[in-house]
Amino acid sequence: MTNLTDLTLAEARDGLASKSFSAVELTQAHQGAIAQAKGLNAFIRETPDQALAMAVAADERIARGEARPLEGLPVGVKDLFCTEGVESTACSTILKGFTPRYESTVTGNLWNAGAVMLGKINCDEFAMGSSNETSAFGPVVSPWRRAGDDTKLVPGGSSGGSAAAVSARLCLAATATDTGGSIRQPAAFTGTVGIKPTYGRCSRWGIVAFASSLDQAGPITKTVRDAAMMLRAMSGHDPKDSTCADMPVPDFEAAVGRGVKGLRIGIPKEYRVEGMSPEIERLWEAGQAWLREAGAEIVEVSLPHTKYALPAYYIVAPAEASSNLARYDGVRYGLRVEGRDVTEMYERTRAAGFGREVKRRIMIGAYVLSAGYYDAYYLRAQKIRTLIKRDFEEVYAAGVDAILTPATPSAAFGIGEKGSADPVEMYLNDIFTVTVNMAGLPGIAVPGGFDAQGLPLGLQLIGRPFDEETLFAAGQVIEDAAGRVAPPPVWWAA
Ligand code: GLN
Repeated sequence: MTNLTDLTLAEARDGLASKSFSAVELTQAHQGAIAQAKGLNAFIRETPDQALAMAVAADERIARGEARPLEGLPVGVKDLFCTEGVESTACSTILKGFTPRYESTVTGNLWNAGAVMLGKINCDEFAMGSSNETSAFGPVVSPWRRAGDDTKLVPGGSSGGSAAAVSARLCLAATATDTGGSIRQPAAFTGTVGIKPTYGRCSRWGIVAFASSLDQAGPITKTVRDAAMMLRAMSGHDPKDSTCADMPVPDFEAAVGRGVKGLRIGIPKEYRVEGMSPEIERLWEAGQAWLREAGAEIVEVSLPHTKYALPAYYIVAPAEASSNLARYDGVRYGLRVEGRDVTEMYERTRAAGFGREVKRRIMIGAYVLSAGYYDAYYLRAQKIRTLIKRDFEEVYAAGVDAILTPATPSAAFGIGEKGSADPVEMYLNDIFTVTVNMAGLPGIAVPGGFDAQGLPLGLQLIGRPFDEETLFAAGQVIEDAAGRVAPPPVWWAA
């Protein structure tokens, strides 16, 4: 029998249905893999008793013929999601010791679909970062390494732990969130699939807020089909989040094999950024060729305001963050550092509880929202946001069904290699992904090949609002053509 941890989510579902193995065996196999992979620092909190109880219950349901869509399938949860009775910290010191008395809607949906929770997964602090180096639990190490080189690489961020865990076969799938690229960039860095659905497809209730008008939950998985299975279970209307769309959730898996015949795929000329590496250029061309061979029409399109997206994002996101993070004051959650009076207690708590990058965002956010600067920065960024959205609307109105771009400007880099002298160096990672959040559109990252050093590279498909189905259909065409990514050799086993 093949290794249970090598199965895809869909294969594991089928194996459980045919009673080739049990949910308990499947769960224990993944727990064994997690125990061996402490060096990757992907899981920060395991929930072994809960996992086993859920797996036992799943086996009983399967035996009764009452399996739900994800019955008995073990998954990991990014620490940004609140989980009832299980410490949830957003990987920040300020939330250490915070144990929610409620479950986020998205994780609740997963458990209602039968999934098994293995534990909580590392991420950048409050999801602010592109390398998982800002976590209060320390960086996640990517299971991938450059050929002939032991340098420890980042898995991307902020959902770096989710991407590393799926890629290293520690869980069948993981939840993630994406405010400016945090699902798609780590997926691209680790040879996994990640989809950020349309804003409003998943409820944000119970997910620690970063920038509320941009945040969306989504899955990181081994395959496009698995992403469709996960997203279907995670999605759905929730009255507890007024921005969550009251729309039916399609059977995303049914779209996976649909193909791209007759679809028009746009290639935005503004994404051919200066200094783009020939490897990324080749990857993008290969993606176009695969879709064309599968029957799509490739057309050049223009998204003229793309160049303003990154600076505008790094105004809007910190502005919302500074407001969202005001609630961490030492009174209501987690950490408290006492002071002479309440003001000093606030100051000491926030000084000790937030990391460098989070403090930088709070200061930038407070600055761009302050009287006198509001019009010059925040208001202008909002106007740019509208123009970016309009760019996409015009392209789709002209009959384009989806847009193909690279997911990232490079492959994964080494831990400590980027951003320490100049944070903008790190922010540039998000150049191809932030536009999608600014416009509220769905975007998927699918592995498309490897660089010269053997590291995975990802392609991104951007869809019309609430048309994730086209992304699954086109994503599958790319997966079929590029070939499914084999797992990296296991060098980390303890
Ligand atoms: N890297 C981006 C940032 O640091 C996006 C993070 C995210 O999507 N959560 O803001």
